[in-house]
Amino acid sequence: MGAAIMNILKLMPKAELHIHLDGSVRPDTIISLAKEEGLMLPVIDPNELRPYLHASEQCSSLTEYLSKFQLPLQCLQSAESLRRVAYELVEDAHRDHVKYMEIRFAPLLHMEKGLTVEEIISHVLAGTDEAERKLGTTTRLIIICLRSHPVNKNLKVVHAASAFIGKGVVGMDLAGDEVSYPPEIHRKVFEQAHDYGLPITIHAGEAADANNIDESIRHLHAARIGHGVRLQDDAALMQWVKDHHIVLEMCPSSNVQTKAVESWSDHPIKEYFDQGIRVTVNTDNLTVSGTTLTKEYERLMEIHDFSTAQFAEMNLYALQASFLENPEKLRLLNYFREEYETMGLLPK
Ligand SMILES: [Zn+2]
Repeated sequence: MGAAIMNILKLMPKAELHIHLDGSVRPDTIISLAKEEGLMLPVIDPNELRPYLHASEQCSSLTEYLSKFQLPLQCLQSAESLRRVAYELVEDAHRDHVKYMEIRFAPLLHMEKGLTVEEIISHVLAGTDEAERKLGTTTRLIIICLRSHPVNKNLKVVHAASAFIGKGVVGMDLAGDEVSYPPEIHRKVFEQAHDYGLPITIHAGEAADANNIDESIRHLHAARIGHGVRLQDDAALMQWVKDHHIVLEMCPSSNVQTKAVESWSDHPIKEYFDQGIRVTVNTDNLTVSGTTLTKEYERLMEIHDFSTAQFAEMNLYALQASFLENPEKLRLLNYFREEYETMGLLPK
């Protein structure tokens, strides 16, 4: 790949719809937070710490992948740590020319020291709002309900999240162990979110089969699907997803690491794109997956032969499917189109 193309991939304005706060904490910050919180770390050198936080391509499963979140979560139990990592995440994305991002996290995982769901959301928002003001990357939040948590607790999370509509929270998600906890368990939770007017995206078809994608769209009101790797197993559903403009938030590095796909070349993203399905490229987790959007684009270009114009097109899909409110969404769409035209990535 030539330097000029690498430069375009880096400099083109990007949108990120699927990124987890707790999986994107800088190793240096983990060390500093552990000190402040009096937590013992297995090692204190950032490079030696990396294997504890990062899933390589040799990672064997989603379960092993999820184990990399334990350490960061222990460090994210206070107002200041939440504010700090939220700020730093926007800063890291900003450096990669991300101009719009939706950051997701599960408030119930940050309550060990007594914070309430409302407080947790407020602290993360304090960090992202400050970063947005200083750096200009428009940032919104998606609140996660975990599959393994009881319905009544998740209903409380939805209720708390609804108080932040118009104040930074733009959607709800369901995440966690897809095999043991199928989406139908949480129909009531997402009915409630839908009633509150909260847009919905669901992790589905990542570790379990295409039925979960079908269930998430039909009964959980999902407008977007996290990953959706297994959609390829169901041709009729694939057609339906295409016709109804359901957007897939695909995270190639993560999908290889969790073994949702065997390898990069087995990833269905190009096939979906060529068939007209609205796919978007996302990182899932900067630290756990050890990636950036630019790195994902580079690998996809090398292995699946995407063009820079096709990345521009996928970014426009992402913005159109974002849960961002108007007129900000229109403003960003215009900005992206103008930049892409100037860079020669769109027909004039
Ligand atoms: Zn995810």
